[in-house]
Amino acid sequence: MRYYSLNKKSPSVSFKEAVVSGQAPDRGLYFPEKIPALSTNLKENLSNLSKEDISFEVMKPFVDKDLPDNELRRIVSETINFPFPLVTINENISSLELFHGPTYAFKDVGARFMSRCLGYFNQNNHRKTTILVATSGDTGGAVANGFLGVEGVEVIILYPSGKVSPVQELQLTTCGQNITALEVKGTFDDCQAIVKEAFTDNDLNDKYQLTSANSINVGRWLPQQLYYFFALQQWKEKEPPIVCVPSGNFGNICAGVLAHISGLPVKHFIAACNANDTVPEYLATEKYPEKKSVATISNAMDVANPSNFIRVMELFHQQLPELKKSFSSVSISDNITRKTITRVFDETGYMLDPHGAVAYHALDNYLQKNKNTKGFILETAHPVKFPDVVEDLLQVKIPLPEEAKHLFEKEKKSILMEASFEKIKEWMMGR
Ligand SMILES: *Cc1c(COP(=O)(O)O)cnc(C)c1O
Repeated sequence: MRYYSLNKKSPSVSFKEAVVSGQAPDRGLYFPEKIPALSTNLKENLSNLSKEDISFEVMKPFVDKDLPDNELRRIVSETINFPFPLVTINENISSLELFHGPTYAFKDVGARFMSRCLGYFNQNNHRKTTILVATSGDTGGAVANGFLGVEGVEVIILYPSGKVSPVQELQLTTCGQNITALEVKGTFDDCQAIVKEAFTDNDLNDKYQLTSANSINVGRWLPQQLYYFFALQQWKEKEPPIVCVPSGNFGNICAGVLAHISGLPVKHFIAACNANDTVPEYLATEKYPEKKSVATISNAMDVANPSNFIRVMELFHQQLPELKKSFSSVSISDNITRKTITRVFDETGYMLDPHGAVAYHALDNYLQKNKNTKGFILETAHPVKFPDVVEDLLQVKIPLPEEAKHLFEKEKKSILMEASFEKIKEWMMGR
């Protein structure tokens, strides 16, 4: 399988090259040259196959010859070695819980797959790779956990001081080993700007072999298809589901659409956004607006210019009318998100996190308007990662998952830094 740059000004590359470089030299996102059709085995026996077998079959054509079969099998089974339950919330809506991985958010799947691929590709490389990543909370934890102990790779995470939740901060700062957390006295946008500048700085690029681990990397994007297959395995209705995905950078939903185009039955996709409504506005007006991100209670989706939306468009041949046949997008306010968390808890006892609540409201609305349809949301994080919002609304203490308790016994280790590229460069040059 070859991958071409969506900017069309760089040569196509293999899976390995796409993972190692992240982005094409022309700054385009890599995209697979063809969408593989699902095998009859996957289509007809889905509910009887093991998660490992599904994962191997789905990923094989994308990875192609760059990983031997036994390595790919090992990597996928380590990637998905936790449950992905489809839980009924009410008669029409279920929740695909993607928070049973080590950092309680769906990003674990992409980060675990990408880190293991990079570890394999790096085996005979004498130069250490340094992953530099900015996080608003979930990415950092998943990347730290995914890369912990991977030979030949170190991770430097920039996170905004005081702006991530306690569980998120502990996930970032307690790994040790090859993971370093820089606590930046600024916002997520500051962290991201510093990382961007670092990638273009000559001194830093001489000293370090820098790579990013954000969702534009095909190694993080493509394995996200897998949980849509696990959901369909558990889907017992005759009609295919409406699938609603809380969306920020649109990597997650884009993977679902990819799986669908390769043959996975889904009736309709809804990209549920918070107040960051670039895509809903684009679909309504057919003009792509320029926006600045606004802060919301579902902060992992505070993205003004979703980088993966161009991939969604490519899956529909850059044709909006084609896209609109099976894809829609809506914006949900914080106010409605809060009301949804409370209402769903009161009515059903199910505790949504703010991201899942955005999706729940969007799906509920769609199902009201389209009678005799059912669907599921992707619950992208455990509510315990957002206690400020959820505990306040529901007046309950969210019980800490058993496996999270050890986090509170560990010591936070971070390096406090000014939100200044120069200061951080000085530190990186001096280590
Ligand atoms: C990252 C994240 C999202 C957004 O996912 P995209 O792939 O960027 O659209 C949604 N919810 C949570 C909890 C996240 O961490």
